[in-house]
Amino acid sequence: MVKKVDHIGILVGNLDEAIKLYEDCFGAEVDRIETVPEQGVKTAILSLGQGANLELLEPLPGSNMAKVLEKRGEGLHHITFDVDNVDKELSRLSGRGIELIDKKSRPGLEGMVAFIHPKSIRGVLVELCQKI
Ligand code: ZN
Repeated sequence: MVKKVDHIGILVGNLDEAIKLYEDCFGAEVDRIETVPEQGVKTAILSLGQGANLELLEPLPGSNMAKVLEKRGEGLHHITFDVDNVDKELSRLSGRGIELIDKKSRPGLEGMVAFIHPKSIRGVLVELCQKI
């Protein structure tokens, strides 16, 4: 089952400017910055009060994410739920007819992750994450 909302992914055109905006406007603090070539992004995890973190995503040039940014512009990209066991959740959801992007969990930034198709979740891209 879902334990909590882990983070909210936000697509941005310029990571440094976006970090400064969230710091200045909302008092967010940078936890870490990482480049993840497999996902075509440079990311910053920001903590903000006691709730879910924010994950700012700047696409790397020529990546699929760059195309998404070009097509849809900046804004909300995904919501990530923290779960005990990603693969168990995937089989439960697919048994309910939910369309998955990842049929199996794979290594992500902080553990095993998988994405669920927004088509099945009312237009929201959902990421499941199992911390290691
Ligand atoms: Zn994420």
